[in-house]
Amino acid sequence: MSLLRSLERPPPSALPEDASAFLAQLGGPTCIRVPGRDRSRTRVATTLLHGNEPSGLRAFLGWLRGGAEPAVDAHLIVASVQAALEPPGFSHRMLPGRRDLNRCFHGPFDDTEGALAQEILRAIREAEPEALIDIHNNTGHNPSYGVGVEVTPEALALVSRFGSAFVWSHLRLGALMEVLRDIPSATVEVGRSGDPEADAVALRGLTRFLGDETLDADPAVPMRVLVTPMRVCVREGARLLVSDLPPDAAHPADLVIRADLDRHNFERIEPGTRLGWVREGTRPLVLLDEDGRDRADFYFEVRGGALIVRRSIIPIMITTDPAVAASDCLFYVVRERDAAT
Ligand SMILES: [Zn+2]
Repeated sequence: MSLLRSLERPPPSALPEDASAFLAQLGGPTCIRVPGRDRSRTRVATTLLHGNEPSGLRAFLGWLRGGAEPAVDAHLIVASVQAALEPPGFSHRMLPGRRDLNRCFHGPFDDTEGALAQEILRAIREAEPEALIDIHNNTGHNPSYGVGVEVTPEALALVSRFGSAFVWSHLRLGALMEVLRDIPSATVEVGRSGDPEADAVALRGLTRFLGDETLDADPAVPMRVLVTPMRVCVREGARLLVSDLPPDAAHPADLVIRADLDRHNFERIEPGTRLGWVREGTRPLVLLDEDGRDRADFYFEVRGGALIVRRSIIPIMITTDPAVAASDCLFYVVRERDAAT
């Protein structure tokens, strides 16, 4: 039995306003097919690879309820329906104990998530799309931006419908984008889950992606390309605190990160800036470059207990959620393309 159902476009009047009700109606992973003005071409949009990232789903629903006819055939793929429906709703990235769907696209394909990833890939390949976008939310305060494994004019043009920054990622995680190199495609991170502005960015971008006759770049949007993400992580076992005060006996920590740090995503942070504090005698911060080398001492120093930036950096995807920082990383460091560090 197929895990990914196929559904012809439902009439707007049959669609609920509420995204959870829409998911319940779908009942499982679904590809919604919408005939366009030009039936010879197809574009694919995917969303909800992560169940706690609802902006893309809300955009799908808003666009379908609007009743617009797309320029070309549109296939809208809604993936992690069960994870998203798991109470209290849109709070689980994946079902408890299961794999992250957006880490499954290189296989293995022998569990439910792997099998779904394989079916999604098959559906995309069969559609032979001229372009694909995958809509996500993220945590922290970030502007809307795109991510891709290759910087191509087509990928930049797709992202320009959602934001003005493109992160060129070399990370190999098993994400959908990594296996679609022959299709013009990009992931877009439209902002924080639950932020109405993120929902609005997703709907606006999707409407243009589906409605524009051609997918040329928007000359009004100068794209900023950021390359080579390096990961800044908290060393295993180190205690992290998010606070505007240094650690003390009442608030012990090996590393304290300024509470407002995530307001500086995508901004250049100049040498001498204090990011937080470090407990004397500890090295709680790790900065891993592409080759997995720790370059923390090159970029940061500790002066009188304060954690100071030594070289200009651009941090992105900063999280001030200690649980996320512990399980993944604190932030990424990127540089402008063509700029030397
Ligand atoms: Zn995601």
